[in-house]
Amino acid sequence: MNLKVTNSPFTEAQATQLNAVLDTLTTDQKIWLSGYLTHASTESQSSVDTTKVATVNTVEATQTTSPNVARSLTLLYGSETGNAESLADLFEARLKSLNFDITKKAMDEIKPKTLKKLEDVLIVTSTQGEGDPPSNAVELHEYLHSRKAPNLEGMRYSVLALGDVTYEYFCQTGKDFDAKLSELGATRLYDRVDCDVDYEADAEKWITNVINALDEQMSSTTPSQAFVRETVQRESETKHSKTHPFQAEVLENISLNGRGSNKETRHIELSIEDMNESYEAGDCLVVLPQNAPQLVTQLIEVLGWESNTPTQINEDGDTLPLEEALTHHFEISKLTVPLIQNAAAHFGNDDLSSLTDDKETIRAYIEGRDFIDLLNDFVTTDLAPEDLYKVLRKLPPREYSIASSYELEPDEVHLTVGAVRYTAHGRERHGVCSIHFAARLQPGDTVPVYLKHNPNFRFPTDPEQKVIMIGPGTGVAPFRAHLQDREARDWKGHTWLFFGEQHFTTDFLYQTEWQTWLKDGYLEKMDVAFSRDTEEKVYVQHRIQENAATFNQWLEDGASIYICGDEKHMAHDVHQTIVNVISRMRHISLEEAEDILKQMKKDKRYQRDVY
Ligand code: NDP
Repeated sequence: MNLKVTNSPFTEAQATQLNAVLDTLTTDQKIWLSGYLTHASTESQSSVDTTKVATVNTVEATQTTSPNVARSLTLLYGSETGNAESLADLFEARLKSLNFDITKKAMDEIKPKTLKKLEDVLIVTSTQGEGDPPSNAVELHEYLHSRKAPNLEGMRYSVLALGDVTYEYFCQTGKDFDAKLSELGATRLYDRVDCDVDYEADAEKWITNVINALDEQMSSTTPSQAFVRETVQRESETKHSKTHPFQAEVLENISLNGRGSNKETRHIELSIEDMNESYEAGDCLVVLPQNAPQLVTQLIEVLGWESNTPTQINEDGDTLPLEEALTHHFEISKLTVPLIQNAAAHFGNDDLSSLTDDKETIRAYIEGRDFIDLLNDFVTTDLAPEDLYKVLRKLPPREYSIASSYELEPDEVHLTVGAVRYTAHGRERHGVCSIHFAARLQPGDTVPVYLKHNPNFRFPTDPEQKVIMIGPGTGVAPFRAHLQDREARDWKGHTWLFFGEQHFTTDFLYQTEWQTWLKDGYLEKMDVAFSRDTEEKVYVQHRIQENAATFNQWLEDGASIYICGDEKHMAHDVHQTIVNVISRMRHISLEEAEDILKQMKKDKRYQRDVY
């Protein structure tokens, strides 16, 4: 997007200055600016220095606005990995700065029966794999869908749903809450917004519109104050983020598997010296990946465009040379249902249009295929570089559980990355980020990253509290971080690790480190399950079963359970095993055992980081 004398009311000098500033702005900053200017233009004194207005308005607003207390305002969040919770924190701060008397709570912090007393309710929730609510939203979700669900006439609400369009039940939990509250008589303050993994800009628009809706109803805080405060808050945020990542240098990149393994698991050490941020065991490092150069070259060939073709990357009209756009900006290695629907609108290919009649047919087609397959299977002459952004979504960042301790290595972050390689439809396929690490990044290279705190995966601060850690495969990463913490603090005992992988000789990740911690007493017990060393598969849950009495005793002694790794099968099967163990050992029903685990979840004694 470029301002010219011909397409704007500005003089040449003004256009040059404005273009210089606009070029440096992020999408979020542009959204803010447009809102700010819209409002500023409606104010009586229009030709004032905007930075000065920002400062003065903030002070005035703080001093003169009376609290927005006409109706109670509650922000409820359902969060598993912390994204919804972080957004809730951000929104809470923003609403408070606007003098809204807001109460923020995790969904499991309110008694479901008290829901009917709430007046204005904002819901921010993620969705788990198969459309399930995040663990702290389960109870409220169940209650609202039960016969006990209350009449909610008089309540006003709005829902922000977080999800991932690659999943069939995209944003399902948000959709469920939205539909149910409406069915129970509540009124929408503002329509639900469903966000894909790249949620920031949509979330920003949602909260701005919700604030405007609340403002309209209460008419005591003007939108300009909202915008002004927002800036002030942003300016105080100095942390690294998606739009402001830290360039971490690769210090070490080694394979943890022995020769002959079916797996390639990389141990990556990154330098975060000068990042000026700390992390805790359980936190994640978010990596901004890039697509493989070979895949990008192949795609450019199939598209039949030049690598330097200017390619529009968003609706603001920003462009990048094609090669750069395909390397850094767009997701090209995966197809989604909305991608196919959008492609049908821009390809001008009848066969593709008829494929989109049925979602099940689309789902069957996209499995294991990428954008190159789509272009080969459904030839297009209509697709233009300025339409590409309407078809492809942004390359989502990847989150990895940190495998090191800030206390032991404050200048480093270690990751345990499983290289994803498989063949589908006659072509070899690669995981975007894992293969960027496994095949391309060498010591000395840099990679853009930022830290993401995970308040839902926190280890006890009491050295005497027992900790049971269950982490097959790469799921063992946060437990290495925790053991390093315990070593740094000289906290001995009270730890039990269950680890599983395919083969003892080739896949025992960090074997010598666990053995040293066992010898030194930082790790009290360790049970391993090598699934493919025996005729019958042995998994971590078999080891839990074999140790049922001790396992139950640890729980009765107040132990906390931590599970990290595969969500689809392992986490579910391990959960079921723990329920069985509690039921068998305490001679209670499975339902009662399930209730014990539910309570442990509430008490933060049962935490999971599953993917
Ligand atoms: P896996 O979870 O695939 O394997 C670790 C061990 O768990 C193996 O011995 C495996 O046995 C076993 N296992 C398989 N099924 C179960 C089960 N139901 N219950 C208990 N144990 C089981 O380890 P990875 O580290 O390779 O992958 C972890 C998860 O992360 C997977 O879901 C993977 O798809 C996902 N993932 C990982 C990425 C990464 O970078 N690490 C990237 C993208 C996804 P066996 O194989 O013999 O059945």
